[in-house]
Amino acid sequence: MTDPVRITPIGGLGEVGRNMMVIEQGDQRVVIDCGIGFPHGADRGLGVDVYLPDIRVLRGQPIDAILLTHAHDDHVAALAHLIRSGTPIGRIISLPFTIALVEAKLAEHELPLPPLVRVLPGEIVEIGAMTAEFIRVSHSIPDPAAIALQTAAGTIVLTGDYKLDATGQDLRRQVDRARLTALGDAGVLAMLGDSTNAQLPGRTPSEATTIEPINDVVDEAVGRVILTSFSSQIDRIDHAIRAADRTGRQTMLLGRSMRRNVKIAEQLKEIVPPNLPTLGRRDLDGKGKAMIICTGSQAEEFAVLARAARGEHPELNPGPGDTLIFASRPVPGNEGPVEEMQEMMRMRGVRVVTHHEAAIHVSGHARADEISEMVRMLRPQCLIPVHGEPQMLAAHAELAIANGLLAKNIHVGANGDVIEIDQAGLRLVDQVEAIAVPAGSDGLPLEAGEPG
Ligand SMILES: [Zn+2]
Ligand SMILES: [Zn+2]
Repeated sequence: MTDPVRITPIGGLGEVGRNMMVIEQGDQRVVIDCGIGFPHGADRGLGVDVYLPDIRVLRGQPIDAILLTHAHDDHVAALAHLIRSGTPIGRIISLPFTIALVEAKLAEHELPLPPLVRVLPGEIVEIGAMTAEFIRVSHSIPDPAAIALQTAAGTIVLTGDYKLDATGQDLRRQVDRARLTALGDAGVLAMLGDSTNAQLPGRTPSEATTIEPINDVVDEAVGRVILTSFSSQIDRIDHAIRAADRTGRQTMLLGRSMRRNVKIAEQLKEIVPPNLPTLGRRDLDGKGKAMIICTGSQAEEFAVLARAARGEHPELNPGPGDTLIFASRPVPGNEGPVEEMQEMMRMRGVRVVTHHEAAIHVSGHARADEISEMVRMLRPQCLIPVHGEPQMLAAHAELAIANGLLAKNIHVGANGDVIEIDQAGLRLVDQVEAIAVPAGSDGLPLEAGEPG
C-alpha cells in the first residue's frame, strides 16, 4: 500500500506572501520556498517590519531538501530564520540565478549553510525515493520555475509564481509548454497553482510591452532620467540600460541590492552591461545625459529614492529637468507612502511618470485565461490554489472547475491545513497551528524564543 502525499502549507494561503509548503511522502520530506510577508492594512505601523512563517509546524524534524521556485523575498527571505532554528536541512536546490541570489543574501547572516545546489531546467534531482525537476515559466525575475515532484503516490506540480508570456525576447524567459503538456499527458496527481491574478480576466501583457513606453519617456526627457523598480526585476532594468545606450546616456546603479543583483545577473549572462562607461558617484550632480537606476520604488524609508525625496541622499539631489520613472507599482498596502514620495518629488520640480501615465509596468502573475491554460496543460486530478487571499484562491478554484476538475478534488484552504492526496482524491486530515510570526527588520522574531 503506497502512502499518500501529505501537503502542509505553512504560509501563502489566504495571503500574498510568506510562501512555504511542506510535502511529505513515505520517509521523504521536502519544503518548497521559505518566504517573508509584509504587514498591510490594519497591520501597518505596529512596529512589525516583516512576518515569518511559523516553522514550529516542522517540529524540528529533518528536511531532505528545500526547493526554491525563484528568488523573490516572499519565497526565500525566511531561509535565514529556518537555518538559525537548527532544523536539519539536507540541501537547498534551485536554478542558477535563484541559488546565486540566495547565497549572496544568506552571506549577510553569517550562518552555517547547508549545501546550495544549482540545477538546470530538465535535470532530474533525486531526493530519496522522490525526484524533482525544475521547469521554466515566465515571471518578473530571472530563472522562475515550476517544480514537478515525482513521488510513489503520483506527480505533484507546483507552478511557482508564473505567467504564460508568449513573446519572451529570449528562450530563457519562455514557458516550457512542451514539458508542462508532457507532464499532463503522463498524469498529474495534484497541481499547486499561483492564484494572485485569478480574479482578473484575460491575460497579463508580456514584459516586452514595457520596452517601447520606457523608450518613449526616455526620448522625451530633457535632463537626467531616474528609473526605479524592484532590484530583482532584471528585464525592466535591462530595458532602461538599452534605452540609455540608444540615447547616449551613461548609467549608474544606486542602492546596495540593485548593485548586487545586477552584478549577479551580469555574471550569469542574464543582462548585458551598458555600452558606455558607467557614471561615478561624483558625476551625479552634472545635469544632462544620465540614467540613474535605483532602489526605493516602494518608498522604503532608507532606500535611495525616499532619502533623495527628503533631500538626505549624499549624491542624488533630484530637481527641475529630471524625469523620474516608476517602472513598478506599489504592492498592496504601500499606495499611500509611494504617492506621498511621488508628491515630494513633484514639489522638487521633478517630472514623475508612473504606470498611470505610461504602460511601463506589467504584472508577473497569470490572469484567468493563463490559469485556465495551465490547468489544461497539466490536467491535474486535484488542485490546491496557493499564493493568494481567500477570494483569489476561490477564483482559481472556479477556473479549474470550468476546465474539468471536480469540486471535491479542490481544496481552498488555510495555512496549517494537513492535506493527504492519493488516487482516491484529496482530504483534509488535520489542522495544525500556523500563525504569522512578527519580526523586526533583521528578520528575527520580535518575541524572544518561539511564539506561544
Ligand atoms: Zn515572485
Ligand atoms: Zn510570490
